[in-house]
Amino acid sequence: MHARVGARGEILLGRNVVADGYAPRPVRVVTHAHHDHLRGLRRSIRHSLFIVATPTTLRFLEVLGYHVPPGKAVPLGYDRAVMIEDEVVRLLPARHIAGSAQVLVDSREYRVGYTGDFKMPGTLPMADLDILVLDATYGDPGRQRRWSDWQALAALVGLIERYAKRGPVWIYGYNGKLQEVMVELRKSGVTLPFYADARTVRLAHIAAEFYGVELRHVNVMDGGAPDESAVIFQHARLKSRLGRMPGTHVLLTGWEMRDVIVRTGPSSFNVSYSDHATLREIIEYLSESKPRLVVIDNYRGKDAILTARYIEKRLGIRALAMPAGSPSLG
Ligand SMILES: [Zn+2]
Repeated sequence: MHARVGARGEILLGRNVVADGYAPRPVRVVTHAHHDHLRGLRRSIRHSLFIVATPTTLRFLEVLGYHVPPGKAVPLGYDRAVMIEDEVVRLLPARHIAGSAQVLVDSREYRVGYTGDFKMPGTLPMADLDILVLDATYGDPGRQRRWSDWQALAALVGLIERYAKRGPVWIYGYNGKLQEVMVELRKSGVTLPFYADARTVRLAHIAAEFYGVELRHVNVMDGGAPDESAVIFQHARLKSRLGRMPGTHVLLTGWEMRDVIVRTGPSSFNVSYSDHATLREIIEYLSESKPRLVVIDNYRGKDAILTARYIEKRLGIRALAMPAGSPSLG
């Protein structure tokens, strides 16, 4: 099979390429700088000939502590190609976090692709594929958000406008999502100062450059909370520790399916905002892409088998989950 998902979530494309996991192949592609797509990267840096990623992703990797030697790093802009033996490798835009890419591998005998993480609209579906490897994080037909991420952002802006007068608004999320939200808040006219730890701020400046937005008033938080109206960005895992600090606490989570905003305590809320496609967006992608076979990532997705059945029934496209029967670790 010319495209498959290995036992540790590595995406094997054609003969020479592995994406988002380790395999002894000459080319390791990093679709984006999220933790669950960086597994085995240090090993790949040692053993692979080339580490291919967008320039933004390579800059993120540096901040995250991965040193890719200049002789191995291949910064590949969107829609540019590199050739390895008889295979042409391209990165195409994916709307997810700054620098995210889809991967396309073309040869005379086959054409295969991997979406990486994505959402719609903003990700151009790859066409004429023999096999498409697809991310389906939210692939359970029974558990779906009923709103767009634009609506979730509007809800977040509303919360900030309402509660910032009473003290800082703390926003919790993952790397990538936090930086995207910083950019989106500035685009929505939120002018309050931003605070975050030094690494989050460095990543934010790289992301802002990618999105072409000036962040302004971003400060490194050292010590306690600022004593002014401000928005503080923190990693999601710190919510339980910081959640009692004065102010309003907002967790960004795509797993909140009840409503776009849900109050979870006297001064805390969930905002249902995600970096991943809903099942409706997945169907939108596939209706345009029409691959001959869809392989659903069953390593990162939780409901890949259900999703595969749904796609076959709804679109008549052959679909299977890989690796077969693996418990989700992501
Ligand atoms: Zn991701």
